[in-house]
Amino acid sequence: MSPRKNKKEEKHLINESLISNPALRTRKRVVLDFPPSQLQTPITYILAKEYDVASNILRAEIAPEESGKLVMEMDGLPENLEKAIQRIKDSGIEVTEIARKVTFDMDKCIHCGACISVCLAGALKLDSEFHLQFIESKCTVCEMCVTSCPVDVVTINL
Ligand code: SF4
Ligand code: SF4
Repeated sequence: MSPRKNKKEEKHLINESLISNPALRTRKRVVLDFPPSQLQTPITYILAKEYDVASNILRAEIAPEESGKLVMEMDGLPENLEKAIQRIKDSGIEVTEIARKVTFDMDKCIHCGACISVCLAGALKLDSEFHLQFIESKCTVCEMCVTSCPVDVVTINL
């Protein structure tokens, strides 16, 4: 096997592990408004096939030959989610993102640091006094910290 081929395979393996690493994936909730002309668009298939984005339909209201509305959770790498949302918009479907964010109840936090080790986005750290710091701008809302907390002070708000 040539060294060139090895490098290519190595890159492929790295990409595969990035895609399957749940800690690097994030979720978005969106409302999709379909015009009548787009009711047959196979959105969940396109998301999975073209962007490796998993989708979970939370609510669907479809009036045949009129219009439709879907509330859906999308799960994927952040850059893939952005591209997938743009693809949906380009096809004439209106997309409204539902804001989600993580909150920490700092009054109850015991600053054990358990959540820091699971946060691959680097949004959590201890300051010089060993108090937890949450850098919200880096948070991808991957939810990994929620289950890592022994005292249940991390919540996801919609
Ligand atoms: S703070 Fe929590 S939800 Fe945000 S990126 Fe880190 S582990 Fe994920
Ligand atoms: S795991 Fe929970 S208690 Fe520990 S530092 Fe993180 S938020 Fe605080």
